[in-house]
Amino acid sequence: MSGPGLDAWAGDLDGLPAEQILARAAGRFPHRLGLATGFGREGCVLVDLVARHGLDVDVFTLDTGVLFPETHALWEELEARYGVEIRSVRAPAGDLAEVDRGWETDPDRCCELRKVIPLGLELTRFDAWVTAIRRDQTAERRRARAVEWDGKFGLVKVNPLVGWTAQDVDAYVVRHGVPVNRLHDRGYPSIGCEPCTSPVSPGEDPRAGRWRGLEKKECGLHTRPGWTSSPSPASPKE
Ligand code: SF4
Repeated sequence: MSGPGLDAWAGDLDGLPAEQILARAAGRFPHRLGLATGFGREGCVLVDLVARHGLDVDVFTLDTGVLFPETHALWEELEARYGVEIRSVRAPAGDLAEVDRGWETDPDRCCELRKVIPLGLELTRFDAWVTAIRRDQTAERRRARAVEWDGKFGLVKVNPLVGWTAQDVDAYVVRHGVPVNRLHDRGYPSIGCEPCTSPVSPGEDPRAGRWRGLEKKECGLHTRPGWTSSPSPASPKE
């Protein structure tokens, strides 16, 4: 599904509440809609929405093997709270061995083998996947639609939170008591792998703690023409 049909469907969905966008997508792609959560605040909200509305969405996470203990704790907490399985998707052992301590030697290759390739393989199981994209995150995302074609991975991208602001996310978390990563309260607005994430100081860009000291700013999951993962100052993602 791409082209004019997708544009027309996006026109129908743009402006609908997030749960309705999710529900319509789940109905359109039965057993073929995936949600990759990185356990950011938006990802936790999406898990809440999927569980709260009993939607047919396959939830998984990329376990790079070097996540924070606090992230593992949140993973378990979400599963217990919502009674859902958040499947672990990992790179083959041989690939992990190739980039053992790869964050020190070749972070781009490390991200490619631990994240980008496993995600690409996993997404071949689906016709569509759910992302946490919001229009207020970057200039490029201002034109984002509720559903779009994901040219990088070759499937439909569903963006239920596209019309939300960072404040909407925070309000939803508070209103529904959604579990979020405890590291957020300890100076980590944006959380990735433990070796590549450090706390940020007040006033710093929220992603300043990611790959601190390196030019690298993206893991490559969302990097393609028209899609960047740099959030607005108040909106850490993943
Ligand atoms: S964020 Fe760091 S540890 Fe994680 S995959 Fe990328 S380079 Fe490796």
